[in-house]
Amino acid sequence: MKTIDKIYINGEFITPQGTEYFDLISPTTNEQLGKVRLGNQKDTQNAISAAKEAFKTFSKTTTAERIQYLQNIKTSIEKRKNEFIDIMIEEYGGTLQFVTMSYEYMLKGFDSTIDLLNTYNFTKTMGESEVQMTPLGVVGIIIPWNSSNGFISSKLSTAIAAGCTAVIKPSEMSAQQTQLIAECLHEAGLPKGVFNIVNGLGEIVGAEISRNPDIAKISFTGSTNVGKIIAKEAVDTMKRVTLELGGKSPNIILDDANLDQAIPLALIAAYMNSRQACVAGTRLLVPESRLDEVKQLVKETVSKTIVGDPKNAATAVGPMVSTKQYERVQNYIQIGINEGAELLIGGPGKPAGLEKGNFVKPTVFVNVNNQMRIAREEIFGPVLSIITYKTEEEAIEIANDTTYGLQAYVSSSDEKRAHKVASQISAGRVQINGIGHDPMAPFGGFKQSGIGREFGSLGLEAYLEPKALIR
Ligand code: NAP
Ligand code: MG
Repeated sequence: MKTIDKIYINGEFITPQGTEYFDLISPTTNEQLGKVRLGNQKDTQNAISAAKEAFKTFSKTTTAERIQYLQNIKTSIEKRKNEFIDIMIEEYGGTLQFVTMSYEYMLKGFDSTIDLLNTYNFTKTMGESEVQMTPLGVVGIIIPWNSSNGFISSKLSTAIAAGCTAVIKPSEMSAQQTQLIAECLHEAGLPKGVFNIVNGLGEIVGAEISRNPDIAKISFTGSTNVGKIIAKEAVDTMKRVTLELGGKSPNIILDDANLDQAIPLALIAAYMNSRQACVAGTRLLVPESRLDEVKQLVKETVSKTIVGDPKNAATAVGPMVSTKQYERVQNYIQIGINEGAELLIGGPGKPAGLEKGNFVKPTVFVNVNNQMRIAREEIFGPVLSIITYKTEEEAIEIANDTTYGLQAYVSSSDEKRAHKVASQISAGRVQINGIGHDPMAPFGGFKQSGIGREFGSLGLEAYLEPKALIR
């Protein structure tokens, strides 16, 4: 049993003024792993004051200094690789396969931010004027549990690159992961107050960040519902917001696709991070004429998918993070059945032998129509909906018939054709014949998948305010 009873303010681990505790429960066994002491409104205000004070000098640092800080952070994270991987498996239930990749991405992210800083021009000429790209101020970073340290790294490194300071509110369910990264950040020797971390509840710590006038910008990743609450609060003090919200990503398999490649890839896209990923491809759009082949391949591939202990290297799908998420997924499986969709594989309940943890059977529905709730709402669990189409035009129409627009996937044996289809999809990212991440390309959503972009120069500029000097 571990007790996390410190938060990080102004360069120090301190005891929060909040006195409530939250239990940390293993997703794999539902045994208690530990507990975390939660910060309150006053703790959050203290963190914001520290960041505000630090901004006075940090905003004037040179890019060379900021590159050095990013390098230091990367070095301290590199030293503790095994701990990062182990704690993400234990506390979050991420599979070894996924968390290893996620750790590598986190490290590479620092390199990309450093590359960006080496090339980005903070002073530009526009028209006849000098335009200075100036740091915004104190940034509030509010994040969910599904890739906690990945989000802290990418958002904080961009804030640092811009010359901003930060107050971070992770999910309380990620407290042990947060403790580890806080120790690395502490070791990196940043000036005190540049980053502050307050464990605590969304309605308390998150709400204070959303309304406090000394926060200039919020970078949020989470659900569309909470994103809307934050945006409404933020407008009172005209905070800038970057919102990375939910998705219901379409995956269009064109009629000329090589199904032996496209279907296994589609299932990786659907089940990545045990489908607790906003970018997961959860609507599989297949030509009616090839449905039978698709069904057979999907069934074969899913029946070989290993669900179980996330520590096991062969496991592809681990437990849901909490019993609440497990119940949510079960509820959606029942909704799909009630709506008249046909279960191809999977279904309600836990897989045999995995009764202790929050395990779900990887589930695939066929005969889904795009108006059903299982095709419209984000489930955040391993449930895939197969929808058929007759023509390419219809496929594009179904793909775009959603309130979301975060990511999409297209497969075809004709690269040009796939490109043409991809260009007609309303989503922030479209993956053609594969699944990749380009840390220099923008990431973010169309429509209700969010506002703004992260990564690359557009991501950096979301932390900068342009100032034109007219002579
Ligand atoms: P969530 O409920 O929206 O929570 C996200 C964060 O917001 C948590 O730290 C939460 O704190 C905090 N929060 C809750 N209520 C708040 C309030 N009133 N004011 C300020 N902050 C508040 O999301 P979740 O259920 O934890 O995570 C899953 C969701 O995240 C999914 O919908 C998924 O699509 C989305 N997501 C999006 C992306 C992306 O990049 N687009 C990536 C990953 C996940 P508590 O933990 O204390 O509630
Ligand atoms: Mg929540």
